[in-house]
Amino acid sequence: MQAAKQQYRAQILQKKKKKMPLPHAVLITYPTAGQLNPMLQLAQLLHSQGFYITFVNTEFGYRQLLRGNASLDALFGRFNRSSFRFVSIPDGICESDLQGPGYLLNVWFSIVRNCPAALHELLLELNSSPDVPRLTCIITNFLVTFPRDVADRLGVPELVFWTTSACGLMASLHVRELVRRGYVPLKDESCLTNGYLDTAIDWIPGMKDIRLRDISSFIRTTDRDDFYLKEEMEEADYALKSQGLILNTFEGMEGEVLDALRGFFPRIYALGAIGSLIDQISGSAATTTPMRLGSWDEEEEEDRRCAEWLEAQQRGSVVYVSFGSITTLTRDELAEFAWGLAESGRPFLWVVRPGLVEGGIEALPGGLVEETKGRSLLVKWCHQGKVLSHPAIGVFLTHGGWNSMMESVARGVPMICWPGFADQYTNCRYACKHWGFGMEIEEEVRRGQVTEVVREALEGEKGEEMRKKAMEWKEKARRAAAEDGTSFTDLARLANDLTQLTTNTGIKQTKHTPS
Ligand code: UDP
Repeated sequence: MQAAKQQYRAQILQKKKKKMPLPHAVLITYPTAGQLNPMLQLAQLLHSQGFYITFVNTEFGYRQLLRGNASLDALFGRFNRSSFRFVSIPDGICESDLQGPGYLLNVWFSIVRNCPAALHELLLELNSSPDVPRLTCIITNFLVTFPRDVADRLGVPELVFWTTSACGLMASLHVRELVRRGYVPLKDESCLTNGYLDTAIDWIPGMKDIRLRDISSFIRTTDRDDFYLKEEMEEADYALKSQGLILNTFEGMEGEVLDALRGFFPRIYALGAIGSLIDQISGSAATTTPMRLGSWDEEEEEDRRCAEWLEAQQRGSVVYVSFGSITTLTRDELAEFAWGLAESGRPFLWVVRPGLVEGGIEALPGGLVEETKGRSLLVKWCHQGKVLSHPAIGVFLTHGGWNSMMESVARGVPMICWPGFADQYTNCRYACKHWGFGMEIEEEVRRGQVTEVVREALEGEKGEEMRKKAMEWKEKARRAAAEDGTSFTDLARLANDLTQLTTNTGIKQTKHTPS
């Protein structure tokens, strides 16, 4: 690996000396925080390896990025913008699409309708433009399943950045097989509650001790033509035909499943925890600025409030609560969490983003703020990396989105998981059963259980164990990102392989199909 790194560095130096064009990676993101943040991080990493970057966003994602950051220079700090371009393509998303509980689907349909043609045109244009180096590769987010035709036409390799865990991906790859074997669709609604979901699934390579309920939420349907079920299968099919797979995980954490995935993909690069890798490469902590939801001023104010409030709390005492950027709660669920946290008697910092629940922060039960005065802080959004890094944080009550989990792992913060969507069930199972840093809250959330689990996580024996495990994982994550750690060397290998592809005619595609 060391040799690959040195070889790669020598090539870049040579290119610079001879004023040869840099390798040019086009990264295409899906415009939600959980997809955009890691793609920005990947862009930073490749840029640090001497790549010219074109970062393609949809107009909606680009607007959010601009709104939440003082400037694009502020977003990338000391990174050299002369070889980093942001480009946006029309997505047709309008304000009315963003209202109501169906907004995620509206966004998805608008993108699928409007982006493929625009993206094709952009890629063709980029490839023939004298102003940028010729394209070396295209890296797509796994939800963007349409640039392959044009990549093939241009003879440019296309890699997929699958932003869930490796185990989440492995489960998704086997949804089609679950359908084929008759586990899915469910026979009827009773299967959701009669124990059927506890059926052991012991034939997915690299995955142990999992049940049907630990596979993506999209299998919980009685309809064979369910939109999400079909999408899940199609995304997996698309990824399987890519020329390489990039993941935000690391060998020490998901080695077994990564090994099994190697049977399906010609090349895999595990770059997790991706934030730690950036910190390692840039030489300082918390340089990565995530996508924000509000305006720059508002967000700065929220960050200031969080920092001040956390400073006043005792070490390891605070429950940080966030359900990510897209999860929604019913008002009842919100109330159960609210009173469960209140009754725990422990301090909590809760991100209640607009859209988390109908009515936003106003939907919180009356009396909560008074009842928890002095020990609660409610914000609309925060810089999660900074919050999780604060020594006052004792536990993270999370929906189990993969970015959140990796951010927490990198900082040694144990988790209370309440999954509800996509791969979050798989992540939760692994956190609680295999990695040992998690406890779970039942799907039908009750305030009594929230109180009990919070107290146990902060003060009980189980909590003590989870803290120990979380610190062990933090150390393993640190080692993976450190120079010559597995993630560090995988980055060098990725950069090297992509550079080779500019000089060679292409890479052989090996065909794999899931068992
Ligand atoms: N996030 C943040 N501030 C918040 C809540 C979330 O910066 O107040 C970021 C978080 O750090 C993570 C992303 O939003 O990078 C959420 O991604 P995740 O995969 O955890 O969940 P998703 O939103 O995709 O369900």
